[in-house]
Amino acid sequence: MTERKMATIRRIDTIGPIEGADAIEVATVGGWKVVVKKGDFAPGDLAVYCEIDSFIPTTIAPFLTKPDHYPKVFEGVEGERLRTVRLRKTLSQGLLMPGTQCPTVNGNNGIMVIRPDSMAHIFQEGDEVSEWLGIVKYEAPIPAQLAGEVKGMFPGFIPKTDQERIQNLKAELAEWQRLGYTFERTEKLDGTSMTAFIVDGEFSICSRNLELKPNADNSMFKAAADQDLEAKMALIGRNLALQGELIGNGIQGNKYKYTGQEFRLFDIYDIDAKKYFTPVERKIFVSAQDIKHVPVMASAFSLVGLTIDDLLKMAEGKSVMGDITGPEREGDVYKCNENPQVSFKVISNRFLIKNGD
Ligand code: AMP
Ligand code: MN
Repeated sequence: MTERKMATIRRIDTIGPIEGADAIEVATVGGWKVVVKKGDFAPGDLAVYCEIDSFIPTTIAPFLTKPDHYPKVFEGVEGERLRTVRLRKTLSQGLLMPGTQCPTVNGNNGIMVIRPDSMAHIFQEGDEVSEWLGIVKYEAPIPAQLAGEVKGMFPGFIPKTDQERIQNLKAELAEWQRLGYTFERTEKLDGTSMTAFIVDGEFSICSRNLELKPNADNSMFKAAADQDLEAKMALIGRNLALQGELIGNGIQGNKYKYTGQEFRLFDIYDIDAKKYFTPVERKIFVSAQDIKHVPVMASAFSLVGLTIDDLLKMAEGKSVMGDITGPEREGDVYKCNENPQVSFKVISNRFLIKNGD
């Protein structure tokens, strides 16, 4: 729904000890916990925070590459991808980098960040610094049979399927609780994003970031044909986008042990009205049109009284796809009933550790 901001200026909320460790401590920023070197940060400091999945150029953080190893290369740049790790049994997610604390012109606190090329700039809390530091989101390469031939960029009139992580939504969570919002709680499937849409009778398909050329051999066009998505949308006569996850053979290790591949819908976007269907409208649509949906765990879930840590704990468990010995669930995605523009994801930390992400 929004592009993820990989590197931002954040304020350190707390610093706490780690049992049995004298050289390191744990910092919290919003809903994130990061292991840091003792003394590097104090509560209230501004710092550069990079989320997990950031690809950090070696020029900025050479220490991320293990001694005697070569850095990875992504999009032509040498660097390392940030993953979830456990240090002394403490979960650590992301990277905190100090800057120089300084007051700025208008009296607010600022932080000066100096780049390896000696360029310096003063930023303020909340500023995004990904581009300035050359930090991008790491994305696993899409297998050839899924990638297809590219027709163009993802169309600007449909939101991408990205979801914001709950760890970045501390203030929003409090606001949603105050408003008494209820949420549809769905299982987050670990496949690949697919959007099938129709505009003025023209049908097309997009992968996560690109629009694809029609090709009957491409997995996404096959999966769309399997469920007659084009005909079902044409019948309605509206400009719509059906968004879902393609799962199965050859995708993300096929955790759910599917023989073929299958499209599982999780959102419907009304292109002319510029808004998502509510979970109830979506449910009516998919049952009338007989379209496969992601698993729904609850349809009117209240967040009242729950903390980010509670939601993270709840996201750990088995997938409902497959049998009782089924795979670890990737996590949950919540969609608001009262305001369908509000949604977020909660990724299971157990899943991240198990899968080395
Ligand atoms: P991530 O894969 O961590 O970037 O998380 C966002 C992605 O989760 C979206 O782009 C979707 O492709 C995918 N996804 C899987 N299951 C769901 C679901 N139940 N609701 C929304 N998005 C989902
Ligand atoms: Mn995913």
